Amino acid sequence: MQNYYEVIVVGGGHAGTEAALAAARMSARTLLLTHNIETIGQMSCNPAIGGIGKGHLVKEIDAMGGMMARAADRAGIHFRTLNARKGPAVRATRAQADRTRYRAAVRAAVESQPRLDVFQQAVDDLILEGERVVGVITQMGMRIAAGAVVLTAGTFLAGRIHVGEHQRDGGRAGDAPATTLAARLRELPLGVGRLKTGTPPRIDGRSIDFSVLEVQPGDEPRPVFSFMGARTEHPPQVVCHIARTNPHTHELIRAAMHRSPLFTGQIEGIGPRYCPSIEDKIVRFGDRDSHQIFVEPEGLDTHEVYPNGISTSLPFDVQLELVRSIHGFEQAHITRPGYAIEYDFFDPRGLEPGLQSRALPGLFLAGQVNGTTGYEEAAAQGLLAGINAVRAQRGEKPWWPTRSEAYLGVLVDDLVTQGTQEPYRMFTSRAEYRLTLREDNADLRLTPIARELGLIDDGRWQAFERKLEAIEREQARARDVRLTPADCTHIAIVERIGQVPAEPVYVMDLLRRPGVRLRDLSEAGLYQCASDDERVIEQVEIQAKYAGYIERQAHEIERNRSHEDFEIPGEVDYASVPGLSIEVRQKLNHQRPATLGQASRISGVTPAAISLLLVHLRRLQ
Ligand code: FAD
Repeated sequence: MQNYYEVIVVGGGHAGTEAALAAARMSARTLLLTHNIETIGQMSCNPAIGGIGKGHLVKEIDAMGGMMARAADRAGIHFRTLNARKGPAVRATRAQADRTRYRAAVRAAVESQPRLDVFQQAVDDLILEGERVVGVITQMGMRIAAGAVVLTAGTFLAGRIHVGEHQRDGGRAGDAPATTLAARLRELPLGVGRLKTGTPPRIDGRSIDFSVLEVQPGDEPRPVFSFMGARTEHPPQVVCHIARTNPHTHELIRAAMHRSPLFTGQIEGIGPRYCPSIEDKIVRFGDRDSHQIFVEPEGLDTHEVYPNGISTSLPFDVQLELVRSIHGFEQAHITRPGYAIEYDFFDPRGLEPGLQSRALPGLFLAGQVNGTTGYEEAAAQGLLAGINAVRAQRGEKPWWPTRSEAYLGVLVDDLVTQGTQEPYRMFTSRAEYRLTLREDNADLRLTPIARELGLIDDGRWQAFERKLEAIEREQARARDVRLTPADCTHIAIVERIGQVPAEPVYVMDLLRRPGVRLRDLSEAGLYQCASDDERVIEQVEIQAKYAGYIERQAHEIERNRSHEDFEIPGEVDYASVPGLSIEVRQKLNHQRPATLGQASRISGVTPAAISLLLVHLRRLQ
């Protein structure tokens, strides 16, 4: 090990591993310092990657040469495409991962990355020269200098775990917190706050009666996460199940509410709105007598399951009762109690968009420490921080994508301009350029940029160029081949196009109609695809079908920009604005902005919400 590195990354979680890999891929001598090498890539909560908005981030990380999608392909035991029946903008990939295989895949990537050293050691302090961060001091007192330091300490900073009345210090179950570093960071001008998150009890699958639960199989054809991935990489697949809470479960929880640290005032940090604990759900949605629980396997070599939907910090005796009140869980054996954790985070408005601290140059922050929640949000920030740590110490300008280039751009813009009062998670609704920012085209949007940044190796670049050429070839062919009206009467085709055209029609024009797919034309013997790559075919179809919408949306957004001073009448009833989320309605009602410009700057009021409000106000005029 050296005593100087261009980049030092603190923390081997999802942000830290992507940061370290990105920095080393950009040829920087990089050191990853983490508490425990065994927990590199550890999934602290549910063993799943992706989902709506999050899957988009994973594809973007992948398009920029990152690791998360590749690890998900190697560890995924149940894959789904969410919103499969909706438009491509909101379609999202989600993989249930084998926790152990996921960790192994990330660790293997880290250990095989040239120019990246790993050292198991807690970091207790930063070395400062004036206000500039120039290195770290470890628990053993080792001083290691660096051109830039990326801090990705997750939920570990002054972490405090709660199970009912019982509290203890911890970074997550089984791991010690980073107390010394947290105390030191509180002395620095970083704007510290407290947040909380929680996790459900885990159950031994052998004690569950799966025969009474609803089966949820994975999707076929099975989605693949990485643009470089293949189904052949996936381990054996399993099914998930769905269980439900019932009125008795809710009664038990209500009766124990006075023992919940969330409601006794023991927990001060604000929890994730979109991943609420079961006790939170009972209070917030008092009229509902059942909530779904996704029963997700933790891996192929374990019986443990993760009951997604009953995150709780109630006392253990209540946890046991509430779990056993659920149909199918009557004999359940809990292997690990659920808990909540409170931790320090830093106001992300103190960061530049490249994730460098404004107050302490040389220090980059990424992941949960910036007030986000989720592996995907953490990994995306890690990638960005890794890139900019290298660029900063080389004297280059920071890079970050705009809101129209990537969800990563939306994420970082939201964080550094609006900050967050609650754990921030990504949704497609946060992006105004949704039709452009699709999962399927993340590589087309970002791989060329990543290549310029030095993140993409020759092998990946050549594969990307081959894909581009194949798309162009297929498009040229579809523009060239014409079907006669007689061809269009083919039963498989007429069903999809509705009306047979009077004149010969180009395949590209047919493709613009909803429901028409190249595979159907090919199976009917009317068109021979130039490519056999399903991702190429999908791209040609999506670009043909949505070209008009994408163009229209671009105009609409341009128009929205000019509505800064559009007045909002004081008496407007936000509950009657169609499509607004409850969160946005609550915030607008609370702040009563005078103009659309003011409304757009309220944290959590998305550009999409502003568009809906604008349409509504126009109707009122
Ligand atoms: P982490 O994955 O926490 O990684 C931090 C790493 O830094 C660890 O390896 C740690 O050992 C290391 N480290 C910390 N301090 C030091 C130091 N001083 N020196 C050296 N190494 C250090 N996300 C959701 O999306 N939904 C949920 O419902 C959800 N629930 C959660 C429940 C719990 C109980 C926990 C703990 C997390 C939950 N999460 C949830 C959050 C999810 O785990 C995080 O968003 C994600 O892991 C953040 O990644 P990260 O890289 O920022 O931090």
